[in-house]
Amino acid sequence: MTNNILSHTIDPEVEGQWLSICERIRGEIGDTAYKSWLKPITLKGLEGGTLRMAVPTRFMRDWVMTHYAERIRSLWSGQNSEIRALDISVLSDARKDPSTGLAQPLAKKMPPRPEPAPRRRHALDELSAPLDPRFSFDHFVVGKPNEFAHAAAKRVAEAATVHFNPLFLYGGVGLGKTHLMHAIAWHIRTMDPSRSVVYMSAEKFMYRFIRALREQNTVDFKEQFRSVDVLMIDDVQFISGKESTQEEFFHTFNALVDQGRQIVISADKSPSDLEGMEERLKSRLNCGLVADIHATTYELRLGILQAKAEQMGIEIPRKVTEFLGHKITANVRELEGALNRVVAHAQLVGRDITIESTQEVLHDLLRANDRRVTIEEIQKKVAEHFNIRISDMHSARRARSVARPRQVAMYLSKQLTSRSLPEIGRKFGGRDHTTVMHAVKKIEELRGAEPSFNEDVELLRRMLEG
Ligand code: ADP
Ligand code: MG
Repeated sequence: MTNNILSHTIDPEVEGQWLSICERIRGEIGDTAYKSWLKPITLKGLEGGTLRMAVPTRFMRDWVMTHYAERIRSLWSGQNSEIRALDISVLSDARKDPSTGLAQPLAKKMPPRPEPAPRRRHALDELSAPLDPRFSFDHFVVGKPNEFAHAAAKRVAEAATVHFNPLFLYGGVGLGKTHLMHAIAWHIRTMDPSRSVVYMSAEKFMYRFIRALREQNTVDFKEQFRSVDVLMIDDVQFISGKESTQEEFFHTFNALVDQGRQIVISADKSPSDLEGMEERLKSRLNCGLVADIHATTYELRLGILQAKAEQMGIEIPRKVTEFLGHKITANVRELEGALNRVVAHAQLVGRDITIESTQEVLHDLLRANDRRVTIEEIQKKVAEHFNIRISDMHSARRARSVARPRQVAMYLSKQLTSRSLPEIGRKFGGRDHTTVMHAVKKIEELRGAEPSFNEDVELLRRMLEG
């Protein structure tokens, strides 16, 4: 790692945290964006909860401020509770201030922490991890795959009394679980400041519990949690297999439920599928409302891209959003990252956003998405799965029992290979590209409408990718 770190002014621990944050963000935004925006950052020092950094140009400062500062801050305060705010200055300005050796404070400064409506800070808020200001209901795009989870989250956020306990949200990585949890917390904190809302990762919960054990402070630990009105624990799969933490979680959980307090939990799997989780905890988790977030559909991806472009105040040609919606299918996080890279590039070089520039900027990501699956493999796997003959992939038979699997195979060919529609059509018995297009549309529709069908297709996709 070759970040410009002035190690003599920086606590090695803070420096270490920065390196791990860089790695994390590099994974999220890709190498090119990382090199353009994160790598040039110089760490200056930590002062009274404000972390000072500098970048070479004003443009970079503005870009990092709008696109990465909040992410950096939230990752950082997750690792180091001392850090409340970021201050980014321009390197050349900073050098003009030899008296402090520190960067000039920015006119545009990140608030130490998003403050919602004026309210008396609740003592318990300290226990909570900071909330990402972008993760509100207003910024959440609703579509078929997440409408149930969204409705459940809204209901919990708006309800004065507890109906479902716990609310258990689950789904794959980057599909909006954390976003929905923060949205609930924002909503409650804004609407009813008297209620104490604690949001934290299961990892943090575990860490605090272990620390309490070590400091023989477990009574205080329990008391703290038990006076919370709404407790949200994110990524609860992290405490599977950790018996003592589970035990403690279970007791806290029961005590809160018995007192009519609201619990919201997220995980990457359903309660029943969580491995290494005690049965009684599973069944307790299953008792409330369980809502899953499905893989994104093309429509949802398109909606998200449009919403994000609007938030950034940027016009993106329809063709480009369609291209991204088709190509970046893994999850919303990756989709957002791709969009940010495309926009950053266009602004940096001062050119319009086009399909060509998008392909160029995202070539590594697109290649990774272009898994080396062949259409033949797809046809074979899909035929096996639906128990039809491979020859039916090419045949003219129109019976639903073969036509549907054929459409699934066409759809997957479009998703998983870089073949064009006419090329795919040719491989399916010389069909026209409009037939392939129709198949893709149809399958997307069905995925959105029928959860079991969606799971089937998702399973096939995973098998082919793995
Ligand atoms: P998870 O916790 O499920 O891994 P996150 O909640 O962190 O995923 O979401 C990843 C990113 O995608 C976040 O930046 C989030 O704002 C964004 N995101 C996910 N779903 C949506 C959605 N439906 N609308 C807008 N943004 C979304
Ligand atoms: Mg999450």
